[in-house]
Amino acid sequence: MVVLNSVNKHFGALHVLQDIDLTIHRGEVVVVIGPSGSGKSTLCRTINRLETVDSGSITIDGKPLPAEGKELARLRADVGMVFQSFNLFAHKTVLENVTLGQVKVRKADARKAEETARALLDRVGVGAQADKYPAQLSGGQQQRVAIARALAMGPKVMLFDEPTSALDPEMINEVLEVMKQLAEDGMTMIVVTHEMGFARSAANRVVFMADGRIVEEATPDQFFSNPRSDRAKDFLSKIL
Ligand code: ATP
Ligand code: MG
Repeated sequence: MVVLNSVNKHFGALHVLQDIDLTIHRGEVVVVIGPSGSGKSTLCRTINRLETVDSGSITIDGKPLPAEGKELARLRADVGMVFQSFNLFAHKTVLENVTLGQVKVRKADARKAEETARALLDRVGVGAQADKYPAQLSGGQQQRVAIARALAMGPKVMLFDEPTSALDPEMINEVLEVMKQLAEDGMTMIVVTHEMGFARSAANRVVFMADGRIVEEATPDQFFSNPRSDRAKDFLSKIL
């Protein structure tokens, strides 16, 4: 459902994405790993057009990404994104954070939006925090609100860019558990993470990037037990 075809992107002289071919099927969970600077975040950002590409194509359900306006806002709703930093609206309550986009972009009525928001906040385990402000929540709770906010838009695919790397260790699991549940429920997911336990248990496929290229694609079992490339072997030896 998400197809990247020969995607290239430069930042000045830096060729940050080099001939990227990648297909993510409906319901699939793809974990993207690789050294710092290999282009993982840029790859995610091109899929919801936070970055444009220089050449190649990206399609979602067969349609090219829209360039601007309402269509672009709809794309950002279809492609939910959760970042390392939680990016909640600080001056809005948790509930408002999760209702706002539904009303503005999806044109949901306020009552229905609130109902959806409360159900999602319950689902990620922060229902009791609905009337608080983000700063009153722990990092793990804030990140779960960020996930609920993205889900409230009814996304076709969810992108996670190192969603747990800014969290204290004891909060990492509560976020990973929500993501695992989402994967089990059939959400199509692209997850940049260094949490290898998550990759092993939730990923259908691991994509290993280095220097702007996809160097290796394999099942988690194949990748972790028998990486083929020297780059992947070297990377794994440093993180495992
Ligand atoms: P990390 O694991 O550290 O998050 P990453 O794999 O996500 O790394 P990217 O953030 O995609 O890597 O960055 C890839 C390269 O592109 C890096 O060298 C980075 O410095 C560069 N880069 C990223 N964004 C920009 C930008 N807006 N302008 C210029 N260079 C950029
Ligand atoms: Mg990154």
